[in-house]
Amino acid sequence: MTNQSFSDRDLAVLWHPCTQMKDHEAFPVIPIKKGRGVWLEDFEGNQYLDAISSWWVNLFGHANPVINAALKDQLDTLEHVIFAGFTHESAVRLAEKLVEITPVGLSRCFYADNGSSAVEVALKMSFHYWRNIGQASKTKFITLENSYHGETLGALAVGNVALYKETYGPLLMDVITVPGPDCYNREPGESWADYSTRRFTLMERALQQHAESICAVIIEPLVQCAGNMRMYDPVYLHKLRDACDKYNVHLIADEIAVGFGRTGTLFACEHAAITPDFMCLSKGLTGGYLALSAVLTTDQVYRAFYADYQNMTAFLHSHSYTGNALACRAGLATIEIFQQQDIIGNNKKLAEAMAKAAARFNEHPHVAEVRQTGMILAIEMVKNKHTREPYPWQERRGLKVYQYALSKGVLLRPLGNVIYFMPPYVVTEEELWLIADVAWEGIQRAVKD
Ligand code: PMP
Repeated sequence: MTNQSFSDRDLAVLWHPCTQMKDHEAFPVIPIKKGRGVWLEDFEGNQYLDAISSWWVNLFGHANPVINAALKDQLDTLEHVIFAGFTHESAVRLAEKLVEITPVGLSRCFYADNGSSAVEVALKMSFHYWRNIGQASKTKFITLENSYHGETLGALAVGNVALYKETYGPLLMDVITVPGPDCYNREPGESWADYSTRRFTLMERALQQHAESICAVIIEPLVQCAGNMRMYDPVYLHKLRDACDKYNVHLIADEIAVGFGRTGTLFACEHAAITPDFMCLSKGLTGGYLALSAVLTTDQVYRAFYADYQNMTAFLHSHSYTGNALACRAGLATIEIFQQQDIIGNNKKLAEAMAKAAARFNEHPHVAEVRQTGMILAIEMVKNKHTREPYPWQERRGLKVYQYALSKGVLLRPLGNVIYFMPPYVVTEEELWLIADVAWEGIQRAVKD
Protein backbone atom coordinates (compact mmCIF):
# COMPACT_ATOMS: atom_id res chain seq x y z
CA MET A 1 0.00 0.00 0.00
CA THR A 2 1.55 3.33 -1.04
CA ASN A 3 0.91 6.76 0.42
CA GLN A 4 -0.62 7.84 -2.88
CA SER A 5 -3.16 5.03 -3.07
CA PHE A 6 -4.29 5.70 0.50
CA SER A 7 -4.48 9.41 -0.11
CA ASP A 8 -6.62 8.81 -3.22
CA ARG A 9 -9.01 6.54 -1.36
CA ASP A 10 -9.22 9.07 1.47
CA LEU A 11 -9.97 11.97 -0.84
CA ALA A 12 -12.69 9.97 -2.58
CA VAL A 13 -14.79 9.65 0.58
CA LEU A 14 -13.51 11.86 3.37
CA TRP A 15 -13.97 15.46 4.41
CA HIS A 16 -11.24 16.60 6.82
CA PRO A 17 -11.52 19.10 9.69
CA CYS A 18 -10.28 22.66 9.39
CA THR A 19 -9.31 22.06 5.76
CA GLN A 20 -10.09 23.59 2.38
CA MET A 21 -10.34 20.24 0.66
CA LYS A 22 -9.31 21.75 -2.68
CA ASP A 23 -5.83 22.29 -1.21
CA HIS A 24 -5.42 18.54 -1.47
CA GLU A 25 -5.42 18.77 -5.26
CA ALA A 26 -1.91 20.11 -4.76
CA PHE A 27 -0.89 18.33 -1.55
CA PRO A 28 -1.87 14.79 -0.65
CA VAL A 29 -3.08 13.87 2.81
CA ILE A 30 -0.43 11.92 4.63
CA PRO A 31 -1.54 8.45 5.68
CA ILE A 32 0.01 7.39 8.95
CA LYS A 33 0.64 3.71 9.47
CA LYS A 34 2.00 3.78 12.98
CA GLY A 35 3.36 5.94 15.75
CA ARG A 36 5.89 5.52 18.52
CA GLY A 37 6.98 8.19 20.96
CA VAL A 38 7.18 11.54 19.19
CA TRP A 39 7.46 9.87 15.78
CA LEU A 40 4.77 9.08 13.22
CA GLU A 41 5.46 6.87 10.21
CA ASP A 42 3.65 6.81 6.87
CA PHE A 43 3.05 3.87 4.53
CA GLU A 44 6.33 4.41 2.73
CA GLY A 45 8.45 4.48 5.86
CA ASN A 46 8.86 8.28 6.06
CA GLN A 47 8.95 9.55 9.62
CA TYR A 48 7.51 12.78 11.06
CA LEU A 49 8.34 14.27 14.43
CA ASP A 50 4.98 15.26 15.94
CA ALA A 51 6.05 18.71 17.17
CA ILE A 52 2.44 19.82 17.81
CA SER A 53 1.36 16.74 19.76
CA SER A 54 -1.34 15.94 17.16
CA TRP A 55 -3.39 19.09 17.88
CA TRP A 56 -2.07 19.43 21.43
CA VAL A 57 -3.49 16.18 22.75
CA ASN A 58 -0.51 13.86 23.04
CA LEU A 59 1.52 14.07 26.24
CA PHE A 60 3.60 10.93 26.56
CA GLY A 61 4.11 9.84 22.99
CA HIS A 62 2.26 7.64 20.55
CA ALA A 63 1.83 3.98 21.50
CA ASN A 64 2.85 4.72 25.06
CA PRO A 65 3.43 1.36 26.79
CA VAL A 66 1.79 2.38 30.11
CA ILE A 67 -1.38 3.70 28.50
CA ASN A 68 -1.47 0.81 26.01
CA ALA A 69 -1.33 -1.75 28.81
CA ALA A 70 -4.08 -0.02 30.79
CA LEU A 71 -6.31 0.12 27.72
CA LYS A 72 -5.76 -3.54 26.85
CA ASP A 73 -6.81 -4.47 30.37
CA GLN A 74 -9.86 -2.19 30.24
CA LEU A 75 -10.85 -3.58 26.85
CA ASP A 76 -11.15 -7.08 28.26
CA THR A 77 -13.18 -5.83 31.21
CA LEU A 78 -15.62 -3.14 30.09
CA GLU A 79 -15.58 -0.97 26.99
CA HIS A 80 -18.56 1.28 27.74
CA VAL A 81 -21.77 1.45 29.71
CA ILE A 82 -24.59 3.98 29.82
CA PHE A 83 -23.55 6.60 32.37
CA ALA A 84 -27.02 7.59 33.59
CA GLY A 85 -28.10 5.31 36.42
CA PHE A 86 -24.87 3.28 36.01
CA THR A 87 -21.24 3.81 36.82
CA HIS A 88 -17.93 1.93 36.63
CA GLU A 89 -14.56 1.73 38.32
CA SER A 90 -12.49 3.78 35.86
CA ALA A 91 -14.97 6.67 35.84
CA VAL A 92 -15.04 6.82 39.64
CA ARG A 93 -11.28 6.52 40.04
CA LEU A 94 -10.61 9.16 37.39
CA ALA A 95 -13.07 11.60 38.97
CA GLU A 96 -11.45 11.00 42.37
CA LYS A 97 -8.04 11.73 40.85
CA LEU A 98 -9.26 14.87 39.06
CA VAL A 99 -10.77 16.22 42.26
CA GLU A 100 -7.47 15.48 44.00
CA ILE A 101 -5.18 17.16 41.45
CA THR A 102 -7.20 20.19 40.33
CA PRO A 103 -7.26 23.39 42.45
CA VAL A 104 -8.78 23.11 45.92
CA GLY A 105 -12.54 23.59 45.93
CA LEU A 106 -13.27 21.77 42.69
CA SER A 107 -15.07 18.75 44.06
CA ARG A 108 -17.45 17.57 41.33
CA CYS A 109 -16.69 16.09 37.93
CA PHE A 110 -19.12 16.03 35.01
CA TYR A 111 -17.92 14.09 31.96
CA ALA A 112 -18.50 14.90 28.30
CA ASP A 113 -16.71 13.59 25.24
CA ASN A 114 -14.74 16.45 23.64
CA GLY A 115 -13.51 19.93 24.44
CA SER A 116 -16.32 21.90 22.80
CA SER A 117 -18.90 19.83 24.67
CA ALA A 118 -17.15 20.57 27.95
CA VAL A 119 -17.43 24.28 27.17
CA GLU A 120 -21.13 23.87 26.37
CA VAL A 121 -21.60 22.07 29.68
CA ALA A 122 -19.85 24.81 31.64
CA LEU A 123 -21.86 27.57 29.93
CA LYS A 124 -25.16 25.77 30.49
CA MET A 125 -24.34 24.86 34.08
CA SER A 126 -23.40 28.43 34.92
CA PHE A 127 -26.57 29.85 33.39
CA HIS A 128 -28.66 27.13 35.01
CA TYR A 129 -27.05 27.69 38.42
CA TRP A 130 -28.13 31.33 38.49
CA ARG A 131 -31.60 30.35 37.34
CA ASN A 132 -31.87 27.70 40.04
CA ILE A 133 -30.98 30.19 42.74
CA GLY A 134 -33.47 32.76 41.46
CA GLN A 135 -31.19 35.01 39.41
CA ALA A 136 -32.71 34.37 36.00
CA SER A 137 -31.63 37.81 34.77
CA LYS A 138 -28.12 36.43 34.35
CA THR A 139 -28.10 35.24 30.75
CA LYS A 140 -24.89 36.56 29.18
CA PHE A 141 -21.22 35.67 29.04
CA ILE A 142 -18.08 37.76 28.91
CA THR A 143 -15.25 36.55 26.71
CA LEU A 144 -11.86 37.89 25.70
CA GLU A 145 -10.83 39.23 22.34
CA ASN A 146 -8.81 36.59 20.41
CA SER A 147 -10.17 33.72 22.52
CA TYR A 148 -11.08 30.26 21.27
CA HIS A 149 -13.28 27.72 23.02
CA GLY A 150 -14.34 25.24 20.34
CA GLU A 151 -16.60 25.04 17.34
CA THR A 152 -20.05 23.93 18.41
CA LEU A 153 -22.40 26.90 18.32
CA GLY A 154 -22.27 27.82 22.01
CA ALA A 155 -18.50 27.39 22.21
CA LEU A 156 -18.05 29.29 18.93
CA ALA A 157 -20.18 32.14 20.26
CA VAL A 158 -17.91 32.65 23.28
CA GLY A 159 -14.82 32.47 21.07
CA ASN A 160 -13.46 35.41 19.12
CA VAL A 161 -11.27 34.15 16.27
CA ALA A 162 -12.92 35.63 13.17
CA LEU A 163 -11.64 32.90 10.85
CA TYR A 164 -13.80 30.32 12.57
CA LYS A 165 -16.61 32.51 13.85
CA GLU A 166 -17.54 35.15 11.32
CA THR A 167 -19.38 32.96 8.80
CA TYR A 168 -21.69 31.61 11.48
CA GLY A 169 -22.35 34.98 13.14
CA PRO A 170 -26.11 34.94 12.46
CA LEU A 171 -26.43 31.64 14.33
CA LEU A 172 -24.61 32.67 17.49
CA MET A 173 -25.75 34.08 20.84
CA ASP A 174 -24.63 37.58 21.74
CA VAL A 175 -21.66 37.84 24.06
CA ILE A 176 -19.74 40.70 25.61
CA THR A 177 -16.22 40.73 24.21
CA VAL A 178 -13.59 42.52 26.24
CA PRO A 179 -10.20 43.64 24.85
CA GLY A 180 -7.69 41.05 25.97
CA PRO A 181 -4.40 40.94 27.88
CA ASP A 182 -2.40 39.51 24.92
CA CYS A 183 1.13 40.75 25.63
CA TYR A 184 2.20 40.86 21.99
CA ASN A 185 0.50 44.26 22.06
CA ARG A 186 2.42 45.70 25.03
CA GLU A 187 4.49 48.85 24.66
CA PRO A 188 8.25 48.48 24.13
CA GLY A 189 9.87 47.98 27.53
CA GLU A 190 6.57 47.21 29.27
CA SER A 191 6.52 43.96 31.25
CA TRP A 192 3.94 41.22 30.72
CA ALA A 193 2.68 41.82 34.25
CA ASP A 194 2.31 45.58 33.74
CA TYR A 195 0.51 45.18 30.45
CA SER A 196 -1.81 42.46 31.74
CA THR A 197 -2.59 44.60 34.79
CA ARG A 198 -3.29 47.62 32.63
CA ARG A 199 -5.57 45.65 30.36
CA PHE A 200 -7.49 44.28 33.30
CA THR A 201 -9.10 47.67 33.87
CA LEU A 202 -11.16 47.01 30.71
CA MET A 203 -12.42 43.73 32.15
CA GLU A 204 -13.19 45.38 35.48
CA ARG A 205 -15.19 48.05 33.68
CA ALA A 206 -17.20 45.46 31.72
CA LEU A 207 -17.97 43.55 34.90
CA GLN A 208 -18.97 46.72 36.73
CA GLN A 209 -21.27 47.70 33.90
CA HIS A 210 -22.93 44.37 33.14
CA ALA A 211 -22.62 42.22 36.30
CA GLU A 212 -26.40 41.95 36.76
CA SER A 213 -26.80 40.17 33.43
CA ILE A 214 -23.58 38.13 33.42
CA CYS A 215 -23.44 34.41 34.22
CA ALA A 216 -19.70 33.93 33.76
CA VAL A 217 -16.44 35.13 32.30
CA ILE A 218 -14.77 32.44 30.18
CA ILE A 219 -11.04 32.49 29.56
CA GLU A 220 -8.12 30.38 28.39
CA PRO A 221 -5.67 30.80 31.27
CA LEU A 222 -2.26 32.24 30.19
CA VAL A 223 -2.17 31.12 26.54
CA GLN A 224 -4.75 31.80 23.83
CA CYS A 225 -3.70 28.82 21.82
CA ALA A 226 -5.85 28.82 18.68
CA GLY A 227 -5.60 32.64 18.72
CA ASN A 228 -2.00 32.34 17.50
CA MET A 229 -0.48 31.26 20.83
CA ARG A 230 -0.80 34.71 22.34
CA MET A 231 0.22 34.85 26.01
CA TYR A 232 -0.37 36.90 29.13
CA ASP A 233 0.66 37.19 32.74
CA PRO A 234 -0.88 35.27 35.67
CA VAL A 235 -1.64 38.58 37.39
CA TYR A 236 -4.64 38.83 35.07
CA LEU A 237 -6.06 35.57 36.40
CA HIS A 238 -5.53 36.67 39.94
CA LYS A 239 -7.35 39.95 39.39
CA LEU A 240 -10.10 38.24 37.43
CA ARG A 241 -10.80 35.78 40.24
CA ASP A 242 -11.14 38.64 42.71
CA ALA A 243 -13.36 40.64 40.39
CA CYS A 244 -15.64 37.68 39.62
CA ASP A 245 -16.14 37.24 43.36
CA LYS A 246 -16.78 40.94 43.82
CA TYR A 247 -19.36 41.13 41.04
CA ASN A 248 -20.98 37.75 41.71
CA VAL A 249 -20.05 36.22 38.39
CA HIS A 250 -18.65 32.75 37.66
CA LEU A 251 -15.18 32.19 36.28
CA ILE A 252 -14.86 29.43 33.67
CA ALA A 253 -11.26 28.36 33.07
CA ASP A 254 -10.96 26.57 29.75
CA GLU A 255 -7.83 24.49 30.38
CA ILE A 256 -8.57 22.19 27.45
CA ALA A 257 -5.33 23.13 25.69
CA VAL A 258 -3.20 24.37 28.59
CA GLY A 259 -4.06 21.80 31.27
CA PHE A 260 -1.91 18.80 32.15
CA GLY A 261 1.46 20.45 32.34
CA ARG A 262 1.60 22.59 29.22
CA THR A 263 2.30 25.88 31.00
CA GLY A 264 4.84 24.53 33.49
CA THR A 265 2.41 23.66 36.27
CA LEU A 266 -0.12 20.85 36.14
CA PHE A 267 -2.90 23.39 35.55
CA ALA A 268 -2.41 26.97 34.37
CA CYS A 269 -4.64 28.35 37.16
CA GLU A 270 -1.94 27.27 39.62
CA HIS A 271 0.30 30.11 38.37
CA ALA A 272 -2.12 32.51 40.04
CA ALA A 273 -3.19 30.14 42.83
CA ILE A 274 -6.85 30.51 41.87
CA THR A 275 -9.79 28.13 41.80
CA PRO A 276 -12.25 28.80 38.99
CA ASP A 277 -15.94 27.95 39.39
CA PHE A 278 -15.68 25.66 36.38
CA MET A 279 -12.59 24.07 34.89
CA CYS A 280 -12.89 22.46 31.43
CA LEU A 281 -10.44 19.67 30.63
CA SER A 282 -9.94 17.53 27.52
CA LYS A 283 -7.07 16.95 25.02
CA GLY A 284 -4.23 15.80 27.35
CA LEU A 285 -6.76 14.29 29.75
CA THR A 286 -6.39 10.90 28.04
CA GLY A 287 -2.77 11.43 27.03
CA GLY A 288 -4.01 11.98 23.49
CA TYR A 289 -5.63 8.58 23.13
CA LEU A 290 -9.39 8.96 23.25
CA ALA A 291 -12.06 11.62 23.15
CA LEU A 292 -13.04 12.58 26.68
CA SER A 293 -13.64 15.79 28.56
CA ALA A 294 -14.48 16.77 32.09
CA VAL A 295 -15.94 19.83 33.73
CA LEU A 296 -14.87 20.25 37.33
CA THR A 297 -16.99 22.45 39.54
CA THR A 298 -17.66 23.36 43.14
CA ASP A 299 -19.95 21.96 45.78
CA GLN A 300 -21.81 25.27 45.78
CA VAL A 301 -22.74 24.85 42.12
CA TYR A 302 -23.61 21.19 42.59
CA ARG A 303 -25.92 21.92 45.52
CA ALA A 304 -27.96 24.41 43.50
CA PHE A 305 -29.10 21.56 41.25
CA TYR A 306 -29.65 19.00 44.02
CA ALA A 307 -33.34 18.82 44.97
CA ASP A 308 -36.47 16.71 44.60
CA TYR A 309 -37.13 15.83 40.97
CA GLN A 310 -40.37 17.82 40.96
CA ASN A 311 -38.37 21.01 41.51
CA MET A 312 -37.06 20.64 37.94
CA THR A 313 -33.58 21.88 38.80
CA ALA A 314 -31.61 18.87 37.51
CA PHE A 315 -28.91 19.26 34.87
CA LEU A 316 -30.39 17.14 32.10
CA HIS A 317 -27.51 17.50 29.64
CA SER A 318 -26.12 14.24 28.22
CA HIS A 319 -23.87 12.70 25.57
CA SER A 320 -24.04 9.01 24.63
CA TYR A 321 -20.34 8.42 25.27
CA THR A 322 -20.26 10.29 28.59
CA GLY A 323 -17.79 8.61 30.94
CA ASN A 324 -16.62 6.09 28.34
CA ALA A 325 -14.72 3.38 30.17
CA LEU A 326 -11.79 3.12 27.75
CA ALA A 327 -11.31 6.87 27.71
CA CYS A 328 -11.49 7.11 31.52
CA ARG A 329 -8.92 4.35 31.83
CA ALA A 330 -6.57 6.17 29.46
CA GLY A 331 -7.08 9.24 31.66
CA LEU A 332 -6.18 7.28 34.77
CA ALA A 333 -3.03 5.91 33.17
CA THR A 334 -2.08 9.44 32.11
CA ILE A 335 -2.45 10.80 35.64
CA GLU A 336 -0.53 7.83 37.01
CA ILE A 337 2.40 8.76 34.77
CA PHE A 338 2.29 12.30 36.21
CA GLN A 339 2.21 10.93 39.74
CA GLN A 340 4.90 8.30 39.29
CA GLN A 341 7.44 10.38 37.40
CA ASP A 342 8.60 13.97 37.84
CA ILE A 343 7.01 15.15 34.61
CA ILE A 344 6.65 18.78 35.71
CA GLY A 345 10.32 18.89 36.81
CA ASN A 346 11.48 17.27 33.59
CA ASN A 347 9.33 19.62 31.50
CA LYS A 348 11.12 22.53 33.13
CA LYS A 349 14.39 21.24 31.70
CA LEU A 350 12.77 20.61 28.32
CA ALA A 351 11.28 24.10 28.30
CA GLU A 352 14.73 25.57 28.99
CA ALA A 353 16.18 23.49 26.17
CA MET A 354 13.39 24.63 23.87
CA ALA A 355 14.16 28.27 24.75
CA LYS A 356 17.84 27.72 23.93
CA ALA A 357 17.10 25.99 20.66
CA ALA A 358 14.79 28.83 19.61
CA ALA A 359 16.87 31.77 20.91
CA ARG A 360 18.30 32.44 17.46
CA PHE A 361 14.84 33.32 16.11
CA ASN A 362 14.94 36.54 18.13
CA GLU A 363 17.54 37.84 15.69
CA HIS A 364 15.70 36.73 12.57
CA PRO A 365 14.85 39.71 10.33
CA HIS A 366 11.28 38.40 9.86
CA VAL A 367 10.49 37.43 13.43
CA ALA A 368 8.76 40.03 15.60
CA GLU A 369 8.64 37.95 18.78
CA VAL A 370 9.58 34.63 20.29
CA ARG A 371 7.36 33.93 23.29
CA GLN A 372 7.12 30.99 25.61
CA THR A 373 5.04 29.71 28.46
CA GLY A 374 6.32 26.34 29.69
CA MET A 375 6.10 23.73 26.96
CA ILE A 376 4.55 26.12 24.42
CA LEU A 377 6.89 28.26 22.31
CA ALA A 378 5.71 30.50 19.48
CA ILE A 379 7.52 32.44 16.78
CA GLU A 380 5.71 35.39 15.19
CA MET A 381 6.76 35.63 11.55
CA VAL A 382 6.15 39.11 10.12
CA LYS A 383 6.76 41.09 6.97
CA ASN A 384 8.45 43.94 8.83
CA LYS A 385 10.27 43.29 12.10
CA HIS A 386 10.28 46.95 13.15
CA THR A 387 6.70 47.95 12.39
CA ARG A 388 5.46 44.40 12.99
CA GLU A 389 3.43 44.61 9.80
CA PRO A 390 2.14 41.08 9.24
CA TYR A 391 2.33 39.23 5.97
CA PRO A 392 -1.04 39.32 4.18
CA TRP A 393 -2.86 36.09 5.13
CA GLN A 394 -3.52 35.38 1.45
CA GLU A 395 0.20 34.69 0.95
CA ARG A 396 -0.06 31.66 3.25
CA ARG A 397 3.56 31.83 4.31
CA GLY A 398 2.94 29.59 7.30
CA LEU A 399 1.82 26.89 4.90
CA LYS A 400 5.22 27.08 3.23
CA VAL A 401 6.86 26.40 6.58
CA TYR A 402 4.49 23.48 7.10
CA GLN A 403 5.32 21.93 3.74
CA TYR A 404 9.04 22.41 4.06
CA ALA A 405 9.04 20.94 7.57
CA LEU A 406 7.10 17.88 6.42
CA SER A 407 9.63 17.29 3.67
CA LYS A 408 12.28 17.25 6.42
CA GLY A 409 10.33 14.94 8.71
CA VAL A 410 8.87 17.42 11.20
CA LEU A 411 5.17 18.04 11.71
CA LEU A 412 4.74 21.75 12.43
CA ARG A 413 1.34 23.21 11.70
CA PRO A 414 1.62 26.98 11.92
CA LEU A 415 -1.39 29.07 12.93
CA GLY A 416 -1.37 31.63 10.12
CA ASN A 417 2.12 33.10 10.29
CA VAL A 418 2.85 31.89 13.80
CA ILE A 419 5.10 28.86 14.00
CA TYR A 420 4.90 27.10 17.32
CA PHE A 421 6.41 24.13 19.13
CA MET A 422 4.15 22.15 21.45
CA PRO A 423 5.76 18.71 21.52
CA PRO A 424 4.89 15.64 23.60
CA TYR A 425 6.74 15.55 26.93
CA VAL A 426 8.85 12.60 25.79
CA VAL A 427 10.69 14.72 23.25
CA THR A 428 14.47 14.80 23.69
CA GLU A 429 16.72 17.86 23.70
CA GLU A 430 18.23 16.66 20.45
CA GLU A 431 14.80 16.45 18.87
CA LEU A 432 14.02 19.98 20.06
CA TRP A 433 17.09 21.20 18.19
CA LEU A 434 15.95 19.31 15.12
CA ILE A 435 12.54 21.01 15.31
CA ALA A 436 14.19 24.43 15.66
CA ASP A 437 16.64 23.79 12.79
CA VAL A 438 13.83 22.74 10.47
CA ALA A 439 11.64 25.66 11.54
CA TRP A 440 14.52 28.06 10.89
CA GLU A 441 15.12 26.75 7.40
CA GLY A 442 11.36 26.67 6.75
CA ILE A 443 11.05 30.33 7.73
CA GLN A 444 14.06 31.21 5.56
CA ARG A 445 12.25 29.75 2.57
CA ALA A 446 8.85 31.15 3.49
CA VAL A 447 10.07 34.76 3.70
CA LYS A 448 11.87 34.71 0.32
CA ASP A 449 10.41 37.28 -2.15
N1 PMP B 1 -11.01 25.10 24.09
C1 PMP B 1 -9.72 25.28 23.76
C2 PMP B 1 -8.90 26.24 24.56
C3 PMP B 1 -9.17 24.58 22.69
O1 PMP B 1 -7.88 24.79 22.36
C4 PMP B 1 -9.98 23.65 22.00
C5 PMP B 1 -9.44 22.82 20.84
N2 PMP B 1 -8.42 23.34 20.10
C6 PMP B 1 -11.32 23.50 22.38
C7 PMP B 1 -11.80 24.23 23.44
C8 PMP B 1 -12.23 22.55 21.66
O2 PMP B 1 -11.91 21.23 21.91
P1 PMP B 1 -12.39 20.11 20.87
O3 PMP B 1 -11.60 20.32 19.62
O4 PMP B 1 -12.08 18.81 21.54
O5 PMP B 1 -13.86 20.29 20.66
